[in-house]
Amino acid sequence: MPELVDDAPASALAVYAHPDDPEVSCGGTLARWTAAGTTVTVCICADGDKGSLDPTADRSALTDLRRVEVEAAGRVLGVRAHHFLRYLDGDLENDAGLRRRLVELIRATRPAVVLCPDPTAVFFGQHYANHRDHRVVGWATLDAVTPAAGNPHYFPDAGSPHQPAELYLSGTLEPDIWIDISDVIERKAQAVACHGSQVGEPGEWLRSVVRQRAEAGGQLAGVRYAEGFRRLAFGE
Ligand SMILES: [Zn+2]
Repeated sequence: MPELVDDAPASALAVYAHPDDPEVSCGGTLARWTAAGTTVTVCICADGDKGSLDPTADRSALTDLRRVEVEAAGRVLGVRAHHFLRYLDGDLENDAGLRRRLVELIRATRPAVVLCPDPTAVFFGQHYANHRDHRVVGWATLDAVTPAAGNPHYFPDAGSPHQPAELYLSGTLEPDIWIDISDVIERKAQAVACHGSQVGEPGEWLRSVVRQRAEAGGQLAGVRYAEGFRRLAFGE
């Protein structure tokens, strides 16, 4: 039976590929946690420079616009700070370079909980395959959280070791915990709406899409609206 988790951690680090990913994947959870006093840091690995199908789109201008959008969304959610790793979309690899940067950030911010995409989720139904950047960031973050960040022999010059207590994997096909986001569903919708370059004009349709997705989670969790995660708890 999936578990509803009520407690908010003291600190959390959300690591995602593109500027709009945290809001879509775990915006309700971040809003709920910051309201309860959690210090939330967000790391965006790629620029979102290919987030347009218009062949004449100026990728540098799109990158700048998306930076503004993510910062606006962060203000809605109460995010303390953003870190931008500035990879180009599609160029991310789960290599030692990316893992080092993630380990450095984990050791610098020392979160109790890390959130990232579940890299094992590839196919969602018959019409959508999970973006490669999401999967790469999921694997790299998983590898950074366990075993690297807490082990002094990995990247010894990248800060003093820190083992996050838990890893929350979003966008998972196998959720085992749920966060009730009923009280913050409008803030999640408002944060998603900040990404105008991706979602167009904010309006009732967007709010209803956000609500519908959270409602599907809520049905499984036994509440109105919920976000589901696969959770790994270390040292238990
Ligand atoms: Zn994305």
